[in-house]
Amino acid sequence: MTSNPKPIDMSAYWLPYTPNRYFHQHPKVMKSAKGAYYFDDHGRKLFDGLSGLWCSPLGHADPRIGAAIAKQYDTMDYCPAFQMASEATFTLASRIVKLAPAGLDKVFFTNSGSEAVDTALKIAIGYHRVQGNASRIRMIGRERAYHGVGIGGISVGGIVANRKMFASMMMPGVDHLPHTLNLSQMAFSKGQPTWGAHLADELERIVALHDANTIAAVILEPVQGSTGVLVPPLGYLQKIREICTKHGILLIFDEVITGFGRLSANFGADRFGVTPDMIVFAKAITNGVIPMGGVLVRGDIYDSIMGGGGQEQLIEFFHGYTYSGHPIPVAAAHAVLDIFESDDLVNRAKALEPILENALHALKGKSGLLDIRNIGLSGAVELEPVPGKPGLRAMKVLEACIERGVLVRISNDTIAVGPPFISTPAEVENLISALGDAVDDAMKSN
Ligand code: PMP
Repeated sequence: MTSNPKPIDMSAYWLPYTPNRYFHQHPKVMKSAKGAYYFDDHGRKLFDGLSGLWCSPLGHADPRIGAAIAKQYDTMDYCPAFQMASEATFTLASRIVKLAPAGLDKVFFTNSGSEAVDTALKIAIGYHRVQGNASRIRMIGRERAYHGVGIGGISVGGIVANRKMFASMMMPGVDHLPHTLNLSQMAFSKGQPTWGAHLADELERIVALHDANTIAAVILEPVQGSTGVLVPPLGYLQKIREICTKHGILLIFDEVITGFGRLSANFGADRFGVTPDMIVFAKAITNGVIPMGGVLVRGDIYDSIMGGGGQEQLIEFFHGYTYSGHPIPVAAAHAVLDIFESDDLVNRAKALEPILENALHALKGKSGLLDIRNIGLSGAVELEPVPGKPGLRAMKVLEACIERGVLVRISNDTIAVGPPFISTPAEVENLISALGDAVDDAMKSN
């Protein structure tokens, strides 16, 4: 049963990444969340088809996380982040290192993905500097990349709209590799496309243009999430790794979305068999319950910056946040990792992967679809845009999905899904069938 919600005063809240005037006409107000569902102010039960914003793989309101947070609050609600730390922060870092690919031995905590990205860029610059390579300051990102909203993140990011309003603030010395999506070569690929590894050679071109000893790092999302689940072609990440190694350039994987099971492995690095020098993470580490991010770093990078390896001089890293390693998100993260272990969640995601893949690709042939792509427990459909009105059709699909009881995420004319790992196979199938019906609705309405 649905009901008309009580009107609320929306005049003061500036919603992020939201066309606010459109929102006021089409408000989406959530009241509660439990398991794999949200409940909105119309009394509708909505399947959480994107795990919040990719951040809640365990679903919502798991009492084990709430209990851990409450206990930590009673024990110690805050601990100064500099020159001291709680024991649980050390043990959390060790747990994350155990889950990570070999060699990534240190963790720097932040409060968000954006902060973690900017932290990783600073570590890269700092590392080269203490190595005597102060000229290595250039960064290389990719077109269509999302690396959060810090100045570093939007500079290495490749989303035009995120950059152009702030053009004067952009970091100098940044180049962008091409993104790897090419619909004429790879539309409707399942998993990794076979075409496109050669696009990594663009990195050689950029390196040659500037000289390797001016370049600090390459940063990329193993799968580009926010711009619509762009899956790396087979062999592409391997080539990028080889070129970086050859030229002494650090490779940073931004695994804010792909980390902690989304690709049916602990990290994208494991899924693709490519180990970067740093991994940026956030989101799922606390199941989205409370903010936290961080950077996994190669041990010798830490040693160089912090004066290890026999260096006598005490070198400091002048960087950190009041809430780095905050005891409450740390407690939440421990509970989340406990649940990952006890409930075997990465394997549950893995078991759902073929169900999502089959359901999504069964939509092939529907009018208006330009592409369907997927990997792990993530996928996307790309719609033919309404001429002159990019994004309009996807917005209609989103509205129709809500009418049909599912939440999805739109970006331009791409619709992404990434259900919670606790979903049942039937819930995943219902999500995609509702999405298919919503696409039909949107195609009929114009
Ligand atoms: N990097 C990637 C790959 C992301 O997907 C996001 C968020 N969607 C971020 C960075 C930024 O994270 P946050 O919003 O926590 O700052």
